[in-house]
Amino acid sequence: MKGLGVSPGIGIGKAFIIDKGPINIIKNYVNDAEKEIDRLKAALEMAKEQLNELYISTIDELGEKEAQIFKSHEMMLEDDTFISDVEDRINREGVNAEFALNETSNVYIKMFQSIEDEYLRERSEDIKDVMNRVIRILMCISSVDFSNMEENSIIVAKDLTPSDTAQLDRTKVAAMITEVGGKTSHAAIIARIMGIPTIVGLNNITDKIKDGDTVICDGKTGKVLINPNAKQLFHYNKKKNIEDDIKNELRNQVGLPSITKDGFKVSLSANIGVPNDVDMALENDAEGIGLFRSEFIFMNRDRQPTEDEQFEQYKEVLVKMGDKPVIIRTMDIGGDKNVPYIDIPKEMNPFLGYRAIRFCLGNVEVFRTQLRAILRASVYGNVKIMIPMISTMKELKDSKKILQQAKDELKSEGIKFKNDIEIGIMIEIPSAAIISDLLAKEVDFFSIGTNDLIQYTMAVDRMNSKLSYLYSQYHPALLRLIKGIIDNAHNAGIWVGMCGEAAGDPKLIPVFVGMGLDEFSMNSPSILRSRYIVRNLNKEDMQKIARNTLDMENAIEVEEYLSCLFADENENCLKTCKNGRRQE
Ligand code: PEP
Ligand code: MG
Repeated sequence: MKGLGVSPGIGIGKAFIIDKGPINIIKNYVNDAEKEIDRLKAALEMAKEQLNELYISTIDELGEKEAQIFKSHEMMLEDDTFISDVEDRINREGVNAEFALNETSNVYIKMFQSIEDEYLRERSEDIKDVMNRVIRILMCISSVDFSNMEENSIIVAKDLTPSDTAQLDRTKVAAMITEVGGKTSHAAIIARIMGIPTIVGLNNITDKIKDGDTVICDGKTGKVLINPNAKQLFHYNKKKNIEDDIKNELRNQVGLPSITKDGFKVSLSANIGVPNDVDMALENDAEGIGLFRSEFIFMNRDRQPTEDEQFEQYKEVLVKMGDKPVIIRTMDIGGDKNVPYIDIPKEMNPFLGYRAIRFCLGNVEVFRTQLRAILRASVYGNVKIMIPMISTMKELKDSKKILQQAKDELKSEGIKFKNDIEIGIMIEIPSAAIISDLLAKEVDFFSIGTNDLIQYTMAVDRMNSKLSYLYSQYHPALLRLIKGIIDNAHNAGIWVGMCGEAAGDPKLIPVFVGMGLDEFSMNSPSILRSRYIVRNLNKEDMQKIARNTLDMENAIEVEEYLSCLFADENENCLKTCKNGRRQE
C-alpha cells in the first residue's frame, strides 16, 4: 500500500488505531436561551485555557512557530462574528449550544473548503479541530487518549489534528499514518520537526488496519506493509538499524573540516525557515546558514511584520550563529507560497508569475522595509543578502539600487549597519544561468536553486505529481547548466553555492565536488552525512565522474551510473563510516 510520505524514516511497530469517530450531536430545544449562551461561554473559556496550556507546552517542546497554531485556534474562539452567529442561532431557534455551534461551524468549514488555495483550504481542518474541542467540553467527552499507548506504536487515524500531534510522546511513537492531510498541513509540519516518519493520504486505512497489527511504515517512499512476512520484517529492520547506526556514527563528524582527501574545502550550511531552526543547524554542526527563507516570517500571521519585528528575527539568527555566515534570502512569496494579507491577483501560472523579486520590485515599500531590517541587524553577525528569482540584469540592478536607497536612508537617520555586506543572487531560472557570466560581474556570490531550476528547465510544475518523472535532479540538461554556472562564477572570481534539495543528495555531492561547488546548503539532518561523503572523496577523481554525467542521454542513465558508483546511499555510508573510518 502506498501513500504520500511527508516525514522520512522507517517505523516498525504495533498499530494504535485512533477512531475518534464522529460525535453524535443531538438537537435539543432549550427553555432558557440565556442560560444556554452562558454554558457556551463557559465552554469557550475552558477551550481557550486548554489551548493556552498547549501553546505553552509546545513552545517548550517545539518552539514558537509550531506553537502559533494554538494561538490561532484561540483567536478563532474570540471571533466576534462567529460567536454572535452561534448565539443568534441559540436565541432564534431555541436550540442547545452544541447543536448551534456545530451548525454554524459547518457553514464556515464549507466556505473554507471551497477556497482554491491549498493552504487556506486545509485551514478548514483547524476550524473542525477547534470546534470539536468546544463541543467535547459541552458534551463532557474527553479528547483522544494517548495514555495507554505503548512504546513503538504506529498511530493510525483518519485524521490527526495539530493538537493531537503536539500531545504525542515522541519516545513511544514509531510512525504515523492518516487518511487525510497534505504536505502543508500543520500535523505534517509538526511530524517532520519531531522526526516521526509519517504517511498521509491512505484512503480507508483505519478499516484496513486493526489495533495491534504489526505495521511497517516507510516515511520516505510512502510504503505501508500490514502484518509483514518474516522476510519483509527482516529487510525493514535491517534498513532501520542501518539508519539508526548511521545517525550515531555520523556524530563523529562533528567538528571535522569539510574537506576532500586531496584538500578541496567546501562549506556545509543549513537551510532554515524561522529563527528556531538555528538550534538544529548548530546541533548538526552547520558551518553557516546558506538559505534563510525569510518569507516564512511573513506567513501564519494576519498582517505584514513591521521593520522592527523583522529586525528582531534577523538579529536572533545572527546572534545565535556568531561569526558564521548567514545568507538571508529576501522574501520569495508567490508560486505556492501565499501570504493571506498580500493580495497577489489570481494567475494562470503562479510559478511563472508575480513571485519573489518580481513582487518586491512592484512593491518597493515592502522590499525596502525588509532590506532596512536586514541592514540594521547586520551589526550583530555575518550577514549576506541574497535575491531570489533573478531572470534579467535589470532586475538585479534595480534591486541593488533599492538596497543602496535603504542604506542611504539609514545613514541619514544615523542608524548603524555594515557597509560591506556581500550581495548574491539565486540562480534558479535558465535565463540567469545562461547569462551567469554577466551577472557574476555584479555580485559577490551565486546560490543555485535547483528546486526551481529543474522546474523551469524541464518546463514541469514542481507541484505536479503526475509529471514527477520529468522533475529530476539527475537530468544532464540540469547538470550542464550547473557546470556552466559554477565555471562562470569562478571565472569572474566569485564563490558559488547551492541551496536547492540537490545539494544534500549523497549521489550528487561527488558530482558537484567534481565541478568545484564551494558551498552546499541543505536540511540540517543531512549535514553530517554530507561531511562524511565529502571527506572520503578525491576531487580529481570526481572531476572525471562529473564530466561523464554531462555526456549521458537522460536522468535515468545518470542516476544509475551514480548509484553504481556510490551504491545505495545508506549502505554506502554504513560500509564506509563504521567507527568514522572507511572500511575497504
Ligand atoms: C530553490 O528553488 O531551489 C530554492 C532553494 O528555493 P525554494 O525551494 O524556496 O523555491
Ligand atoms: Mg526557488
